Amino acid sequence: MPEGPEIRKAADAVEKALKDREVLDISFAFETLEGYEDILTGATVTGVDTKGKAMLTRFDNGYTIYSHNQLYGKWMIRNAYNYPKTNRQLRLAIHNEKKSALLYSASDIEVLRDEEVPDHPFIRKVGPDILSETVTKEQLRERYTSKRFFRRRWTTLLLDQSFVAGIGNYLRSEILFLAGIHPSLRPIDSTPQQIEKATEATITLMEQSYRYKGITVDPDIAERMKAEGKTRNQYRHWVFRRSFQPCHICRTKIEKMEAGNRRLYYCPTCQAL
Ligand SMILES: [Zn+2]
Repeated sequence: MPEGPEIRKAADAVEKALKDREVLDISFAFETLEGYEDILTGATVTGVDTKGKAMLTRFDNGYTIYSHNQLYGKWMIRNAYNYPKTNRQLRLAIHNEKKSALLYSASDIEVLRDEEVPDHPFIRKVGPDILSETVTKEQLRERYTSKRFFRRRWTTLLLDQSFVAGIGNYLRSEILFLAGIHPSLRPIDSTPQQIEKATEATITLMEQSYRYKGITVDPDIAERMKAEGKTRNQYRHWVFRRSFQPCHICRTKIEKMEAGNRRLYYCPTCQAL
């Protein structure tokens, strides 16, 4: 399941193919949207924003395409009018002189006026997206200590898209590890230092994972392990998917548990109760 950094990468690819180019042709698979084909043809794409797992393709004539990939949606970028061989259903195709951006299998596609975007039910409830918006450490700290959230467990909070958009299962384990927070705790049980580290880790891990293609461990550690012949799965994370492996900080064996029906990994020493 893609998390924020992977979604932003996909949005970058769509943006690179479409931005600042005039739409030659656009087609929607859904009848209810066909009326927008004429409106968007000839418009220029100004950018592609993400809001958690939703993507907002912006046009210069006041319209935005909202799309949410749910579990199956997938964007593919091709040279103009080249279609990949796939059994997937094509749901949206945007063509310009050079490229075609093709959205397959997604069922959640809408066209909105720009001013309607903030009131869209998903956009309205989703939390800040660190990779698409300016979110300061102070704003995040305020959120982590707000009444709305601070009595809930970290493990459920971090996966709640209305808290921070784009955190998924691997980022959850990694943030708690870097913050030294035991998985059973809530923000209200945590020290100010732990809260501070959790806000920092949320920002730095999202950005690092985006920049280093999903690698969240210190890049020097990843390089060293790679040189030792370890696989990407072995060197990618601090704790995630590393059961029984030694912690990179203290050498304690990493443990695995279930939290909210999803697996979570932690170091019993670095994240002691
Ligand atoms: Zn440790």
